Amino acid sequence: MSIRKILTMDYPVLRAKAKKISRFDPWLDRLVQDMWETMREAPGVGLAAPQVGETIRVLVAEYEDQAVALVNPEIVKASEEEILGTEGCLSIPGLVGDNVPRHVSVVVKARDPKGKEIRVKAEGWFARILQHEIDHLDGVLYIDRIKPEDVREATEADTEEEGGPPEPGTPEPTKKKRALGKQPAQASAGGER
Ligand code: ZN
Repeated sequence: MSIRKILTMDYPVLRAKAKKISRFDPWLDRLVQDMWETMREAPGVGLAAPQVGETIRVLVAEYEDQAVALVNPEIVKASEEEILGTEGCLSIPGLVGDNVPRHVSVVVKARDPKGKEIRVKAEGWFARILQHEIDHLDGVLYIDRIKPEDVREATEADTEEEGGPPEPGTPEPTKKKRALGKQPAQASAGGER
């Protein structure tokens, strides 16, 4: 296993539509292992293959006791209800976006890295993470879903994610900052997009 370089949004691969996987081979296994390691080291709660330079439909996501590696994920059901939340992204270091709308719950159909068909039901924060990562496979970033003025520099209060900070009222101040994205240590010049 090895840690891959996480690409930032100036790389065109972040804006490409990723291709479906049809071969479930050792190469894919190795990529998924690398993605787990890269995500945890970042640290983040989700990572999509385009973020490590592979234009294919693969993601890993982990939140609390849920951890999934999904190949060719597809949202097959989504709650009508949406919720606004704050998200960060490992590919947009130092910044977060407020008021990112996401479905409260989703059902995702996918294959696991061995090719077996699976279904994942997710709600709340985990559902947000999955929607954020699936967006990456279509070249979509959270900044596309909000107004430019809702993008700001991340602060200490912005714990959690690629997927974003925790829902309002459930801060986890003792937890290490994890970016659905990235630690806001070195914020880059604000407002770029
Ligand atoms: Zn992201």
